[in-house]
Amino acid sequence: MKYLDLDFNVYKEDLVTGRFVSNEDIETFLKKPKLVKTFELLGCSVENRNVYGIRLGKGQIKILIWSQMHGNESTTTKGLLDFINFLLGDDLRAKNYLENVTLLILPLLNPDGAEKYTRVNANGIDLNRDAIDLSQPESVIIREAYNNFKPDFCFNLHDQRTIFSAGTGKYPATISFLTPAYNKACEVDSSREK
Ligand SMILES: [Zn+2]
Repeated sequence: MKYLDLDFNVYKEDLVTGRFVSNEDIETFLKKPKLVKTFELLGCSVENRNVYGIRLGKGQIKILIWSQMHGNESTTTKGLLDFINFLLGDDLRAKNYLENVTLLILPLLNPDGAEKYTRVNANGIDLNRDAIDLSQPESVIIREAYNNFKPDFCFNLHDQRTIFSAGTGKYPATISFLTPAYNKACEVDSSREK
């Protein structure tokens, strides 16, 4: 597949195929020479699996990205690995991008859920409903990453069921962006607009 003369096959990560992405896959990915100096251990899950953060770029705009807080939603993790391969490749657009942004990427926030292929973590908690309670170690990890990194933008990556279409057409939405409303009237403030 080619898009804007970008050959996707060059960056496609062969390590992960199918629907299961485990922490072992991530750890194998992180052993690549280009990645060795980019990542840090941010903490551990309920079952003591490592949760990693990958730091790329040196630009002013800070973007925090985390994937697979729902353990059975691995599509964006696979997309992220391809994206990281692109960023670490020779394409001038990637180099230019990394001059302008600093990324902190958590490729797999819920490694226990990934292992069992469940939405929830090992304590049966949906981490996407735990941002205020912070009752789970994985929730604390992403909160601390947020507090320390102070991002301008956050991307909370999820899979999406195929029932969502692009507009009223018959085609499924391949990628969707949701900027959650801050009030019941779904108004747009400056941060939501940005
Ligand atoms: Zn999800």
